[in-house]
Amino acid sequence: MRAGEIQVCANCVMDTTDRNILFDKNGVCDHCDTFYSDIEPFWNPNDVGWAEIQKIAEDIKKKGKGKDFDCIIGISGGVDSSYLTYLAKAKLDLRPLVFHVDAGWNSQEAVNNIEKIIDGLGLELYTEVIDWEEMKDLQLAYFKSGVPHIDTPQDHSFFATMYKFANEYDVKYILTGGNYSTECVRNPLEWMYYQSDSTQLRDIYRKHGSGKLKSFPVTNILWHKIYLPYIKRIKTIRPLDYMPYNKQEAVDFLVKEFGYQTYGQKHFESRFTKFYEGFWLPKKFGYDTRKVQYSSLILAGQMSRDEALVKLRKPAFDEEQIEHEFDYIASKLDISRDELSGYLSAPNRSYRDYRSQRPIYDIGARMMRIFGLERGGKR
Ligand SMILES: [Zn+2]
Repeated sequence: MRAGEIQVCANCVMDTTDRNILFDKNGVCDHCDTFYSDIEPFWNPNDVGWAEIQKIAEDIKKKGKGKDFDCIIGISGGVDSSYLTYLAKAKLDLRPLVFHVDAGWNSQEAVNNIEKIIDGLGLELYTEVIDWEEMKDLQLAYFKSGVPHIDTPQDHSFFATMYKFANEYDVKYILTGGNYSTECVRNPLEWMYYQSDSTQLRDIYRKHGSGKLKSFPVTNILWHKIYLPYIKRIKTIRPLDYMPYNKQEAVDFLVKEFGYQTYGQKHFESRFTKFYEGFWLPKKFGYDTRKVQYSSLILAGQMSRDEALVKLRKPAFDEEQIEHEFDYIASKLDISRDELSGYLSAPNRSYRDYRSQRPIYDIGARMMRIFGLERGGKR
C-alpha cells in the first residue's frame, strides 16, 4: 500500500480511514476477525435463540408481577427500537415502560412513527423533554471542542434517562434494540468515543460551554456499570440477537403493519444525526459510518460486499439537501452559517484532548470479555 492510498478489507468494506484497522495476510480486517472468532460462534439468531428469549421473557414476567411494568424500552423511532417495541409487546407478551427522550432534534417522521407504534400496540409513552437551552449550549460546546463525537449530548441524555427511569420505577430489565445483525461492526473509538463518559462531557462543557448543566441528565460509569447491574441487579437484554433479524424485512413489516415511514439511513430518525453522520463526520474527519453499517450487514449476510461498494461510491450526503440541513442546524443552534462553517474548518481534535474515563472503560470492557458478558465491542 502506498502512502495516501486507502486499503479496503477483502471481506467487508472497512478500510484505513479507520486508523487502527489491522489486516491479516489475506487482507481481511480485525473487525471481521472479531466477528468470526468472538461473535458468530455465540450468536443464535434461530430457533435455539428464540427458545432462549422466551425463557428470559418468562423470568421477566415473573419478576415484574405486581409492578406497573416488567421491563423498560427506549424508543427513538428508528427501525431497531420500533421493531423491538412490537416484539416485546406483541410477541413476548411483556408489559414495557416505553420512554422517549426529546432532545430537540426529532425528525417529523420519527415523531409520527413513535406515535403510530405506541398507538398501534396500545401502549403509553413516557416522554422526557430535555431543556433546550442547556442542550443547545452543550451541543455548541461539542462543536467548539473539535472532537468527532459531537452527537454525545443527544446520546448521553438518552442513556441517562433510561437508567433514571429503570431505577425510579424499579424495573429489573432493560431491553435494547442493540443487535449484531446491523451492528456487529462497531464505530471505532477514534470515530465515536464512549458517549456515556460523563468526565469527558463535563470537561468539554467546562472548557467550551457558557453556563452550568442544571437539569441535563448526566449518568456516570460507576452508577450504570456497577451499581445498577450488580447492586440493583438490573439486567440489559438484547432480544433482537435471539432471532433472525433482517433489517429490510423489519422495515417492510413496520410499514405494512403500522404505516411506518422510512428515513433512508440508519440513525437518520434524528435530524442532528443525519447531519452529523451524513455530512459532518465524512466531511471534517473522513469518517463514513456507512462503512460500519454496511460491513455489519455484510457479515450478517444481509448485503453483498459488491452492493456496499457501489453504494459507497456515492457521497454520504446529497450536496443540494445538505445546504438546507446546514441552515437548519445553524438556525436551531442560534448561530450564523459562518460560525458553523468556522467549526467545520477548525482544527480536528480527539477524545484524547480532553479528560476522560477511558482507563475505567478499558478495565470494564476487559472484564466483560473475560466473563463472556460482552462480545465484540468497541476498539
Ligand atoms: Zn473486514
